[in-house]
Amino acid sequence: MANIRELLKRPGPVIFDGATGTALAPFIKEAGSPSCLLNLTDDGREKVMAHYENWVESGSKAFLTNTFNANSWRLKLANMNDPNTLWEANYNAAKDAVTVAGIEHCAVGDIGPSGLQVREDMEEKLLVASARRQNIHTDKISNLNEYPTAESLIPGFKLQASALIEGGVRDILIETMSSIHELGAANRAVHLAINDLKLNNKLSPDEQVSIMATMSFDAGNALRPSTFNGNTPIDFIDATYSLGFVARGANCGNNAYGLHQILLILRDLQKINPTDKPKRIMPDLGPEFFIIKPNAGKPEMTASGPTYTISPKEMATIAVMTWEAGAKIIGGCCGTTYADIAAMANALAKR
Ligand SMILES: [Zn+2]
Repeated sequence: MANIRELLKRPGPVIFDGATGTALAPFIKEAGSPSCLLNLTDDGREKVMAHYENWVESGSKAFLTNTFNANSWRLKLANMNDPNTLWEANYNAAKDAVTVAGIEHCAVGDIGPSGLQVREDMEEKLLVASARRQNIHTDKISNLNEYPTAESLIPGFKLQASALIEGGVRDILIETMSSIHELGAANRAVHLAINDLKLNNKLSPDEQVSIMATMSFDAGNALRPSTFNGNTPIDFIDATYSLGFVARGANCGNNAYGLHQILLILRDLQKINPTDKPKRIMPDLGPEFFIIKPNAGKPEMTASGPTYTISPKEMATIAVMTWEAGAKIIGGCCGTTYADIAAMANALAKR
């Protein structure tokens, strides 16, 4: 199987995949139930493998496992929160994705957010509120102990990462993060999983597992784009400066044009390179790379379900803009179809 490091060394963009949830929604029996539950049956696994194959046929060089929701917190909402289910949903997804990836393509293990608000974020919100002399937040947050610390999420993320890596993936994307504290916990968990797998001879000592990270910024506020939790692009660049991600960037957010704006901000921030920090260089890769996965616009509800407003032609134009602005890994998020990725891959083929 190809890995992200190899793909990054090649000239031109690395085409990633598009939306998993939108593509697998027709096969989900209960609306809102996580698509990773498909990985628990033979029939479901066939559908998911066909989905992975569609990315490969559309031109994706790398694609994600359908494990965005395959963590204990999201599975709990579907009353499927036992460790065996979690393990199987991730392990099978990785195994099937690696099979489809073959020699040429790269299967990437997907780790999404817990969906919880962590204590550190609430503490920061309280600080901001008190600095602004606002009582709104302070009234709502009665007891900080009700919120889990970011550190307490580590075992959950570690279980997911272990299952994905044991299933065969050697690249992980931590995505759609809204909290730098949670992102840090997920990253730490993946490193702990790698260490444990090596100690238990389930991963050879010289094998590398690369990690990428994206946060979801809303570019709606052009002056101060931020995540749902209030983290800004500079918070992200600063907090992840020395974490060793092979690629950092943004996914989803407002829409594809908004994400292009975010990329410009990230690129400018990266150029600043404060003198008190060592220049961030990957030992075998050189400078780091940006990964951008925009969604296909705001969904409009129609009789046949949500329809996304940005056409494949527009997605292709945005993909070229994104490449020209400095992104190396380009894919899509919510609503991005196989046709969108094919149009993006075609437009980028000559770059
Ligand atoms: Zn999305």
